[in-house]
Amino acid sequence: MRQAEALLTWFDQHRRDLPWRRTSDPYKIWLSEVMLQQTRVETVLPFYNRFLERFPAVEDLARAEVEEVLALWSGLGYYRRARQLHAAARKVAEAGTFPSTVEGLLALPGIGAYTAAAVASIAFGVATPVMDGNVERVLSRVLALDEDPKSGAARKKLLAKAAELLDPARPGDSNQALMELGATLCSPRRPKCLLCPLLSGCRAAREGDPESYPIPKVKRDSERHRLLVAVVEDDSGVLLFRRPDDSTLLAGTWELPWITRERDGVPEPGEPGEVLAGRYGGRWTIGPRVGGVRHGITYRDLEIDVHRAELAWGGEVREGMAAGFFDEAGRANLPLSSLVGKVLAAVPRPGATPSAEAPARRFRSRRR
Ligand code: SF4
Repeated sequence: MRQAEALLTWFDQHRRDLPWRRTSDPYKIWLSEVMLQQTRVETVLPFYNRFLERFPAVEDLARAEVEEVLALWSGLGYYRRARQLHAAARKVAEAGTFPSTVEGLLALPGIGAYTAAAVASIAFGVATPVMDGNVERVLSRVLALDEDPKSGAARKKLLAKAAELLDPARPGDSNQALMELGATLCSPRRPKCLLCPLLSGCRAAREGDPESYPIPKVKRDSERHRLLVAVVEDDSGVLLFRRPDDSTLLAGTWELPWITRERDGVPEPGEPGEVLAGRYGGRWTIGPRVGGVRHGITYRDLEIDVHRAELAWGGEVREGMAAGFFDEAGRANLPLSSLVGKVLAAVPRPGATPSAEAPARRFRSRRR
């Protein structure tokens, strides 16, 4: 049996039953592809269902405010995806039709080569191969590719192999089959080669050490950062700031005020109150340390000193930001950085949190 045929036969027998596989609606397929980037299927499922309950069609998403979209995304991380999804939905709604070609999809905000190929092949039957982390691993092993799979030359070989495995009559299924194989059998550790439909043509399995592919990339050294996080509370909740929309990281998410105090043991200049004032405005009085938290973000290892603090200001915040006091119920409706819950859990509670309607007080920056 040809490899492409063996792959599809295996997929037909073993595919997981997932909601985005029961539809040919490009909007729903696109949503699943965006949510699944860097996120596991089990994590995505409840978010996907909730999102579609609220926004069943691309026009519903286009009409929504971005704040509501970000709040529904809260917990999935990588909020930039949600903002771009929303921006792209507006373009699709404006055009009145969903682009059905790779080129048309690539013209939408936030849609890269992988998503364009996935949506085009799955929703519209375009015979184009996809390349994600799973496919890269499977095919690096099948070819026993002895070079960095991200390099231009390796990419070409991987895409050529993916195209060879594509059945032109069922390109979406062929692509999903390769991704499914990477997600289930051809795992990073202990791949289940004996169950694999590609075993007879897999060079890495024949060599006896498939785990050694793809060639590992050189790891970036980790950095140790010491942060100070300031917890300002009043009767209506905890003070949070919204990151500006043009932030490179976590744009539009809400965070506790924080500053870096040390990088790899080297102190940062400035007195904490002044540095906080420089970033957020107002006059700060830093109280005692009340707890500590460890947190990892990509290559950064964060050690966080949590302090109570007081802020004197007139409610005016830096341009592009917003701020407000939020109780627990209010925070549940915000796109929050994952650190907020961790830090607040480390703050000793003198009594129960008041349950005022949130946000009790909210401020926006003044436009100049
Ligand atoms: S035979 Fe093993 S290493 Fe090769 S593709 Fe299949 S699961 Fe991966």
